[in-house]
Amino acid sequence: MGAVGGLAVLGVSARWNWWRPRAAGLPILMYHKVGQPPAGSTLKKLWVSVEVFRWQMAYLKRHGYTPLTLRGVAERVAEGRSLPDNGIVLTFDDGYRNNLENALPVLREFGFPATIYIVVNAVGRDNFWHDPSSETRLPMLSWEEVAILRDAGWDIGSHTLTHCRLTRLPLSEAEKEIVESRRILEEKLGMAPVSFAHPYGDGADNGDIRRLIQKAGYATACSVHRGKADVSGSPYCLKRIFVRGDDTRWDFHLHLTRGQARF
Ligand SMILES: [Zn+2]
Repeated sequence: MGAVGGLAVLGVSARWNWWRPRAAGLPILMYHKVGQPPAGSTLKKLWVSVEVFRWQMAYLKRHGYTPLTLRGVAERVAEGRSLPDNGIVLTFDDGYRNNLENALPVLREFGFPATIYIVVNAVGRDNFWHDPSSETRLPMLSWEEVAILRDAGWDIGSHTLTHCRLTRLPLSEAEKEIVESRRILEEKLGMAPVSFAHPYGDGADNGDIRRLIQKAGYATACSVHRGKADVSGSPYCLKRIFVRGDDTRWDFHLHLTRGQARF
């Protein structure tokens, strides 16, 4: 290999994880919005186009992955059953209407279920927690639309009431976010949620917050720590794979094999 080729390999190695060994664990993919970012959005990495999303689902099918919900994972773990080889979880944070409009039809094509984390006070409203200078106002799912996802086999989880940073609240307020969101989801959907995701990943490493989540009746909680999840470890700080809007096909392959594409 010439000096130029060697430098190119060094450059690629410094940025991507292709040279790492395959990572063990359950891949839990984290999506937010599916579709085209509106003009004015500066959070474009949180948008995955329908075409890219469909290619990614086809990749999973081609490689024999078995999509599970986090409720399904929790049930299997509680029953002492092992997870299927090539198990994978598809998660959507926040509860955008574009998940119903753009992701559900693709997932129906493939027969894949997903887990969605709802910001309860945003249902039927908009993404009020975003700074409008970084993300335009987007329609969130209504309760009727959340019920459509439930009926399609999606696992409906909590993402708090207000998309707060749990560790910045007094513990009693954090508890309200965790407990009340679960109570309202159960009241509206007739099924108590067992899946939780920490907004911003905040609180996933905090013992007090984890205990509140467990006490409230959740079986799992997802963080935003990157990598594949170790379901034999703490179920209240599960790692995820952040699928970015600008990920290439190679990035997606590295996510699934190495646990993360880049540093
Ligand atoms: Zn979120």
